[in-house]
Amino acid sequence: MTEQLKHFIGGQYVAGKSGRFGPVYNPSTGEHKADVPLASEAEVGDAVANSLAAFPEWAATSPITRARVMFKFKQLVEDNIDELAALLASEHGKVHSDAKGSIIRGLEVVEFACGIPHLLKGEFSDNVSSGIDMYSMRKPLGVVAGITPFNFPAMVPMWMFAVAIACGNTFVLKPSEKDPSLPMKLGELMVKAGAPKGVLNVVNGDKLAVDTILDDPRIKAVSFVGSTPIAKYVYSRAAAAGKRVQAMGGAKNHMLVMPDADMDKAVDALIGAGYGSAGERCMAISVAVAVGDAGDELVERLAPKVRGLKVGPSAADGDMGPLVTKEHLEKVKGYVDLGIQEGADLVVDGRDLSLQGYESGFYMGGCLFDNVKTDMRIYKEEIFGPVLSVVRAPTFNEAIEMVDKHEFGNGTSIFTRNGDVARAFSNNVEVGMVGVNVPIPVPLAFHSFGGWKNSAFGDHNQHGPEGVRFYTKVKTVTSRWPDSIKAGAEFIMPTHK
Ligand code: NAD
Repeated sequence: MTEQLKHFIGGQYVAGKSGRFGPVYNPSTGEHKADVPLASEAEVGDAVANSLAAFPEWAATSPITRARVMFKFKQLVEDNIDELAALLASEHGKVHSDAKGSIIRGLEVVEFACGIPHLLKGEFSDNVSSGIDMYSMRKPLGVVAGITPFNFPAMVPMWMFAVAIACGNTFVLKPSEKDPSLPMKLGELMVKAGAPKGVLNVVNGDKLAVDTILDDPRIKAVSFVGSTPIAKYVYSRAAAAGKRVQAMGGAKNHMLVMPDADMDKAVDALIGAGYGSAGERCMAISVAVAVGDAGDELVERLAPKVRGLKVGPSAADGDMGPLVTKEHLEKVKGYVDLGIQEGADLVVDGRDLSLQGYESGFYMGGCLFDNVKTDMRIYKEEIFGPVLSVVRAPTFNEAIEMVDKHEFGNGTSIFTRNGDVARAFSNNVEVGMVGVNVPIPVPLAFHSFGGWKNSAFGDHNQHGPEGVRFYTKVKTVTSRWPDSIKAGAEFIMPTHK
């Protein structure tokens, strides 16, 4: 019988009451593995009420005690990491080692959050005027919410809740309905680590749950990561409801290969960054820009490696696994059909891959297009699959202009040996995260993650110092004691004489 999943509210698993469910698949086998409850407005309301009740005590808990919960949580995740990676992969399809790596990248944000006593230290100015001291402190916002995508069911929730909870907020997480089991497990481990019940609630659902979160006045801030149309929608609706919002969207990440690049290393980088996790990463490289005369050699070297990719079920731990759902697989294959119609050259065609024993899994092989033009839809739109497009650019200036004109600005990279070119690129390109001879420049936890243009909406990036700013509000206190106060009322604006 198909397993029926639950919500994780108030420190325990609770059955869905709405009567609405969504299917969860195992992409490696195609099996309909479970049904996830899709919350009603009342169920989301319960989760928010629970977080609201937990907030005063949690906000009053000392930062060092909150840090100790995060230390314990990290330990528990590490102790169970193989089992957690297998659970993640059974709903997402990532190969085992990549699933594990994605959990570890989330844990790095937990490690960052363990430093919260230091991160929350305020500022103090002694004697700003006679007998007057001034100091500022960072206060938690209250109940905050996170809405997360399918492609990183452990890492992206940890980007959000680790920092938010360490700052003293309580958190309502609405994970992707495609792979909800791992996020709920994280809720369970937070309770085991000592977080009081209600500090982290996980409510499953679809658009109705999201809209309820966006409109609920008890929620003070919303973090969103997902596709650009939904990010824009979440940003405007939540901001209209008076909330603080950070909403990260889609991407089309270009990697420039200059004629002087180490071609072997550039090719390896493109293979890993283009096809790892079957291209289902917002920092995947989906466009290789061959500059000058780099194009022919690049395509010649890429093609056999794309053909040789080891595709298989998650447990086989090859180069890449299946796509997340049959629907998404069909969409990605549809883009490959479209690219042929638009006139691009399909050098490697992975559409017909079938794996013996796994015929119902959602697999395709790697695809490689050459001579892609900037007016084609396969160039303009995010495909989110194992499809790499090679575009030719005669000069560096034309290549950088191409990146700048693209609607997305999440990540980009340049492979070159020329320091002047690398510096000009990283200083001037209109993109939020830049790599120099690094194909996927994801900032580490103590820096902040976020793109530009249509890849992010709102004011603060994820995790790092920006994450702490997002989840706290500043209070500034001006203080003096009676001995230094002169008698008599003052009616003019106080100035420094
Ligand atoms: P998605 O936008 O379909 O879903 C994200 C979340 O929004 C889910 O929780 C989903 O339930 C909810 N949602 C979906 N449709 C909705 C609607 N109509 N109204 C309200 N809520 C809705 O994204 P996805 O397919 O789960 O994830 C892949 C996308 O996420 C890609 O575009 C990828 O680039 C992007 N992504 C971006 C980043 C980043 O940091 N920039 C990181 C990871 C993924």
